[in-house]
Amino acid sequence: MEEKTAVIYGTSVASMRTAANLGKLGYRVIVLNKGDFLDDIPHQLSHTRPRAICNLCLRFVLKRMKNVSFLHNVEIDSIKRNGKIEITLKHTLPDVSPEKCVECNKCLETGKVKVIYRSMGNSTYIVDWETVENPEEFSKVCPFGAINPDRGVREEKVTADVFVIGSNYTPEEMEKLKDFGYGEIEDVVTIDQVENWFLGIGPALEALKRPSDGETPSSVALIVTQGMKETSNCEGFEPFIHAVETGLSIKELDPSIDIKVFSRELFTWGKGQISLVKRAMDMGIEFVMVEDVEVGGVIKWN
Ligand code: SF4
Repeated sequence: MEEKTAVIYGTSVASMRTAANLGKLGYRVIVLNKGDFLDDIPHQLSHTRPRAICNLCLRFVLKRMKNVSFLHNVEIDSIKRNGKIEITLKHTLPDVSPEKCVECNKCLETGKVKVIYRSMGNSTYIVDWETVENPEEFSKVCPFGAINPDRGVREEKVTADVFVIGSNYTPEEMEKLKDFGYGEIEDVVTIDQVENWFLGIGPALEALKRPSDGETPSSVALIVTQGMKETSNCEGFEPFIHAVETGLSIKELDPSIDIKVFSRELFTWGKGQISLVKRAMDMGIEFVMVEDVEVGGVIKWN
């Protein structure tokens, strides 16, 4: 089969997930990033606001996928279709190539290079070019050829079969959710619907009402579908944390509602999220580790 290329513009959560899913389908995926590294802010968010969804775990998944690559420091100049989609980019070359730099810090001895250390990923090295007389000669300071003497903006082209503009997170395909009884069995709803109710834009304002009869349910099952019934097995923690968060919101609304979270694993990242799960347990939310579930009049699991 001819290899197809997907180009994704932006590094939002939606972009990361799209990259992972297209990569799994066998696409060669190129993610375009305006900045020079993937921001650390989501990482910090996972500790300070554990309910926030970030893309950190997806980065590790994507790192293992050989057919997914990132192009940093690029802006789109033009896009046109000529059989395939041709995208012209303005690529600003970094002073030091992160792919070649091994962070030996030898260049720092010259006093002409500064470094921004980062907790995750590559550190950023910046050359003070104004103090450099001969860039070509200066670049030889690096034994690994990582310093770019021909820095600046370069025009580059990529061609794509698919061009994706990273926007909002897209929920799971509705068709696949039928395997969990969605659309077929009364009162099986998606987590987005539940969130809409809490946000006050759904059918009931700030209240949990069962769709079939408008009553408040006495028990709620939250099923984290990832990895079950051949759904995406991308091992991100956000669907799980989403379920924990929803369970807590329901408990805050009515502590008497019995809540079970069904999941293949306790997907968590960092102390913040672990303490969120502990809090959920303290509030009586039960976690059931399962390989699969069957949703009928009752829920069966194994
Ligand atoms: S000398 Fe080269 S490899 Fe070492 S830190 Fe500097 S740029 Fe990186």
